[in-house]
Amino acid sequence: MEEPERVQIQVCRKGHLINEAVQFDPSANRKFCPSCGSETIIECSNCNALLTSADANPYRSVVIPAYCCECGGSFPWTENAIKAAFEFADELNVLDAQDKSEKTYDPRRQQGVSVFREEQRNFSIGDRVQFTAPANSLKVANRELGTIESIDGDGRLRLRMDGGRAVELDTSRQTHLDYGYAVTSHSSQGQTADRVLVHVDTELGAKDLLNSRMAYVSISRGAHDAQIFTNDASELGKALSRDVSHAPAIEPEAIAQKIAPQSVSIEEIAQELGIGL
Ligand SMILES: [Zn+2]
Ligand SMILES: [Zn+2]
Repeated sequence: MEEPERVQIQVCRKGHLINEAVQFDPSANRKFCPSCGSETIIECSNCNALLTSADANPYRSVVIPAYCCECGGSFPWTENAIKAAFEFADELNVLDAQDKSEKTYDPRRQQGVSVFREEQRNFSIGDRVQFTAPANSLKVANRELGTIESIDGDGRLRLRMDGGRAVELDTSRQTHLDYGYAVTSHSSQGQTADRVLVHVDTELGAKDLLNSRMAYVSISRGAHDAQIFTNDASELGKALSRDVSHAPAIEPEAIAQKIAPQSVSIEEIAQELGIGL
């Protein structure tokens, strides 16, 4: 007996069934999902095998597959579900046993807890990285810096944190990681580097962030040298001399010891701040 043809289907990236019989009615295909607006797919993005119902019997209802039956890769909706489950498990891990029994998973509750924009990052061995959220299970604080020592095929990274500790993480679970080549003035507090390059944009929307405290924190991070890059040198002194503290935040001697006076712009800043070099 001839084997029944498998039912080809079109599914959106969130896992909604769009067309349950592509080969019989291609006009029912849609570019985007009418329920959620996600892009639709008719084939595995990994091996290009056509999507078919997980139930091979064409006379029974369509079952959306979790994995590609040709290459074994997981489909986008499966990846989302796994990621959500891991995040939930991570959250459970940081709770004590008593809290665990009372915890329920409500995705709505997640909203507003942390706000971030998802972006793609390509990391290589030797890249400097920073955590953009605290990783409790790894005992890593927000904005901690490290260097990538190795990457394996599954996206597991081995990091050497700047404090010397080795940390291993799974990038599919620990997603709050960014390049660590630049840090904000605020998160640079408590850290030192041999040289610092300070970027100050006087036309920045958040002008309130430019003040004498920011200037002191940024410049004093450098053990040997600090250079300022700015769009407008004439406005710079005014922007950075704004005093926001009640107690004096600037200790002239501390700055004078920490920065080498070879940079002209630093001296100009120092004069504006009333610091003699
Ligand atoms: Zn959808
Ligand atoms: Zn495949």
